[in-house]
Amino acid sequence: MSEHDHDHEHDHDHDDHAAETAEESRAEAEAEARRRFALGQIRQYGDPALRLVAHDVVDFDDDLRRLVDRMTTLMHEAQGVGLAATQVGVLRRLFVFEPDDEGPRVIVNPVLVERADQTELDEEGCLSLQGVRVPVERSIRVAIEGKDADGNDVRWELDEYGSRVVQHELDHLDGVLIIDHTDEEHRKEALSTLRPRVVLR
Ligand SMILES: [Zn+2]
Repeated sequence: MSEHDHDHEHDHDHDDHAAETAEESRAEAEAEARRRFALGQIRQYGDPALRLVAHDVVDFDDDLRRLVDRMTTLMHEAQGVGLAATQVGVLRRLFVFEPDDEGPRVIVNPVLVERADQTELDEEGCLSLQGVRVPVERSIRVAIEGKDADGNDVRWELDEYGSRVVQHELDHLDGVLIIDHTDEEHRKEALSTLRPRVVLR
């Protein structure tokens, strides 16, 4: 192999690597663009819908299934692990969540039927409170019952992360946010992050 060929081969390898990296960074940029677009469709702090109490779902129809599909897509694109209907401005009692790698789940008219006395403090974020992470105390284990999008009964017993996610989403259906559950210091800090910046002219 001549020196020239060797160089050429080396350059070729290098080019392949560069192309792969460019492809990766393009995929990352696309995911970030999708995430921002999805967040733009999710109600943000200050929107009154986030403070309202949602009503029970009565009709398990195509509209409901379309809403569930839309919420699941938004949750994925926003890179979240849960999304409540109130966060898309729909005052109905349902949320989608995905606390593990077993795929997205939906629960309609959810009721917490069991709650462990033991609690754990951990940081939580929220798709409606961008840039905020605050410590929130949650029960380490819960059982939740409700319906799926077709009106069939569902029941889940969840611990640790799953338990935290469903307690967070249930709160949304009652107009409750993580800043209501944290200590005064973290609440103040969060509010200063969320407060629209004053524009000085
Ligand atoms: Zn949230």
